[in-house]
Amino acid sequence: MFTLLNPHSNVPILLLCEHAENKVPEEFGDLGLAAPSILNGHWAYDPPMKKVTMLLAEKIGATTVLGNYSRLVIDLNRQENDPDLMTPHYFGHDIPANMNLSEEARAQRIGTYYNPYHDQVSFQIERLRKNGHLPFILSLHSFTESPGIGLPDRPWDVGLLYNKYDQAARHFDDYLTRHHPELKIGHNEPYDLRVMRTSSAIMHGENKDLPYLLLELKNENFDRGDQTHEQWADILADVLQAMELDLEFHHAVVS
Ligand SMILES: [Zn+2]
Repeated sequence: MFTLLNPHSNVPILLLCEHAENKVPEEFGDLGLAAPSILNGHWAYDPPMKKVTMLLAEKIGATTVLGNYSRLVIDLNRQENDPDLMTPHYFGHDIPANMNLSEEARAQRIGTYYNPYHDQVSFQIERLRKNGHLPFILSLHSFTESPGIGLPDRPWDVGLLYNKYDQAARHFDDYLTRHHPELKIGHNEPYDLRVMRTSSAIMHGENKDLPYLLLELKNENFDRGDQTHEQWADILADVLQAMELDLEFHHAVVS
């Protein structure tokens, strides 16, 4: 239901990757999709992010929780009461396996494929807190430049998503602007966390008074292959390492 890396780490950062995978559990077949090939593309998951997150986890040694199944089965980046949790329609695609679900089927899917991920995230936050750390929650995602279906293009390379807590976003913006001026940075783009209030970053970051950021990277920047995953993991490791002092500062403010 989830993949856990560096479970005993005391690095005060928790990496989350809710949309790491495009797999569907056997019991749901191909979800009844008219075109099962959509499971291979960005509708079903965030294609580069499993690799980027795992490389980053290795570089900084932080505890990391990754989802094991496609968002089309259940979206780990939504709160339990969000109507899109098990969405019957996704950007023009019908998802028959999510239509007319009984209360029992919903509860079973939440219990099997959703709760274990979020329980583990909560457990790791508590573990780090007990060890005297206030973890920075970094939820890693990706977006597509040209989503089509009448939506405007998204020109950013990096999206920094946040609501009340903006310190981490400012740090990322400052660092990236200074060291990688070629990157186009969007604040609360391509989605707006001030409006979209049900993400994992809000659940585990904002709602628990922890420093947090939801990061979105552009899928198309990874088209050149494995090297780009490594480059991005390096960039993010550098940003996070430079951030340590800010995090120390934040401890004093929150606690
Ligand atoms: Zn995502």
